[in-house]
Amino acid sequence: MITVPLLDLKPQYASIKEEIQAAISRVCDSQYFIMGPEVSELESELAVYCQTKFALGVSSGTDALILALMAINLKPGDEVITTPYTFFATAGSVARLGATAVFADVDPKTYNLDPAQIETRITPKTKAIMPVHLYGQCADMDPIMEIARRHNLYVIEDAAQAIGSEYKGRRAGSIGHIGCFSFFPSKNLGAFGDGGAVTTNDPHLAEQLRILRVHGAEPKYYHKFVGGNFRLDALQAAVIRVKLKHLDNWTAGRQHNAARYNQLFIEAGLADMSGEGSSLVLPCESRESGQYALRTEAAVDPFPGHRHIYNQYVIRVNRQRDELRAFLTERKIGTEIYYPVSLHQQECFAEWGYQTGAYPHSEHAAAHTLAVPIYPELSDEQLQTVVQTIAEFFKQDLKGF
Ligand SMILES: *Cc1c(COP(=O)(O)O)cnc(C)c1O
Repeated sequence: MITVPLLDLKPQYASIKEEIQAAISRVCDSQYFIMGPEVSELESELAVYCQTKFALGVSSGTDALILALMAINLKPGDEVITTPYTFFATAGSVARLGATAVFADVDPKTYNLDPAQIETRITPKTKAIMPVHLYGQCADMDPIMEIARRHNLYVIEDAAQAIGSEYKGRRAGSIGHIGCFSFFPSKNLGAFGDGGAVTTNDPHLAEQLRILRVHGAEPKYYHKFVGGNFRLDALQAAVIRVKLKHLDNWTAGRQHNAARYNQLFIEAGLADMSGEGSSLVLPCESRESGQYALRTEAAVDPFPGHRHIYNQYVIRVNRQRDELRAFLTERKIGTEIYYPVSLHQQECFAEWGYQTGAYPHSEHAAAHTLAVPIYPELSDEQLQTVVQTIAEFFKQDLKGF
């Protein structure tokens, strides 16, 4: 029986084991563990990769968000407009600083923040807009930047899932005022533990980020602000530096798998060329609101200059999503639901007073989406097994109707 885990990092490690072990040895020999040359080399390489003037290594993606919000001086009572359909940390970081997340619904095709939903939610307390480049695809940034410019707001990109993804030829993390990245092991560029980065083109913000990363000290032991310990350690930086060299290859592998899935789902009769089927909707690419296309060839971006890096390949299951998931689990095919509860419905945010029904596209996505395995080392046999097993589910399911 062919099993397909949602993610298996072992083949990736096997392919770079010598390089990684040499990098770890280098750090052990140096006994330089916190920041230092590995971190600053990584920062230079990340700035080049992300097409920004500055990049700083930090302790996690969550801390990248908190640090970014501290750098724009977000205060209790301030508001940040963001999406309710994302990982918890997006709004959690806002709450941690005593501010309020004001949610705006998503585009139901890309699951990214819908620019048309933003402007009516701006108040005198609004300080920033925080789009998330969900699953590895950039949000529609031009209208978001235009709204921010008109209302004098910061834009913080939550690019935790999107390193190397592009919007109209520009890299994630280089478009807004600050970009936030995660090196959590399941991200496309994963450390051997927690890690993250912030990027910016603004020298003043870069300086604020740098100082707040080390308890607001400048110089050491002289504190202008209360920051935190948001440092990246040298071992993680050394591992990430090795992996960064391979990232574009791995991205190509993910894009190949996404295109292959699309072909296989269409061949199986589960969707047509538009990506729609009676049981399933395939993940589309979109450069801007209203323009959508399916990736059908591995190496050809449906929209030139728009690069989806497929941190996740997420299908929409029109009915019986949870039954399909159980069926796949039984057959040793890993899946995940990103995310089963919209953030406006989270218990810990009850004080913000959001009602169920307020964000219908987000709530619908939470009830119907399913991520299937997409990591680059999957074999064609494994991809075929996933599609055949899903097809089998819907065949037997149809008998019940
Ligand atoms: C992973 C993730 C984060 C948090 O990153 P950590 O490194 O796990 O703290 C934040 N936002 C999004 C959208 C993420 O996917």
